[in-house]
Amino acid sequence: MNMDEETEKAQPKDVVWHDHGLSRDDREKLLGQKGLLLWFTGLSGSGKSTIASAFQKRLFDEKRLVYILDGDNIRHGLNSDLGFTKEERSENIRRIGEVGKLFVDAGVITIAAFISPYRKDRQEVRDKLGERFVEVYVKCSLEECEKRDTKGLYRKARSGKIGDFTGVSAPYEEPENPEIEVDTAKLDVEQSVQLICDWLEKEGLWKDESAIHERTGEEE
Ligand code: ADP
Repeated sequence: MNMDEETEKAQPKDVVWHDHGLSRDDREKLLGQKGLLLWFTGLSGSGKSTIASAFQKRLFDEKRLVYILDGDNIRHGLNSDLGFTKEERSENIRRIGEVGKLFVDAGVITIAAFISPYRKDRQEVRDKLGERFVEVYVKCSLEECEKRDTKGLYRKARSGKIGDFTGVSAPYEEPENPEIEVDTAKLDVEQSVQLICDWLEKEGLWKDESAIHERTGEEE
């Protein structure tokens, strides 16, 4: 082992977690909501980004702090060094999981819209987040996604111009037990958004009524 490797390995145990005195709970009280990571998974073109935008708008109109981590956008910045091999996809999802965890700790309702084709990678994010992780399967047949082909990517994948393309030349592992499933071949965008909102309402997630009262009380 050379010196560099030794230094690198020595780092984690010499880094001590610092408690900054405010918790997620404190921030959630301030915001009057619960930090959540809604994980949208599905084929390219299934509707993840479209539903994420509409859902975000709906929550924002209800004065909720909400933020979208979008697969394509994150690959322009934080993950611009990653490609589409199995290992790179795993690393892509691992990083987003860590970013999502920070956002949830900040009390933000966070929507992650990523193909995230491997069950194991999604499970690892779930394990990190526990009950704050909500898997939303944006379901749509490959046939329908190819028909939409809004970005022209399926055409390129079929003609061999893009390799490792999910559904064509790379696998997609469907969620086995997602909290929510929206079938975009059957539901329109608003119906999908409504289904997600209904589920959150039913589970008592996202709103923190006691905190809202506390804040209203202070303002009066
Ligand atoms: P993804 O983020 O999953 O790759 P996008 O949201 O970028 O998918 O693209 C999905 C495309 O499918 C959009 O052009 C959208 O308008 C279209 N679409 C058609 N029907 C629906 C539906 N019911 N729900 C969501 N998107 C739909």
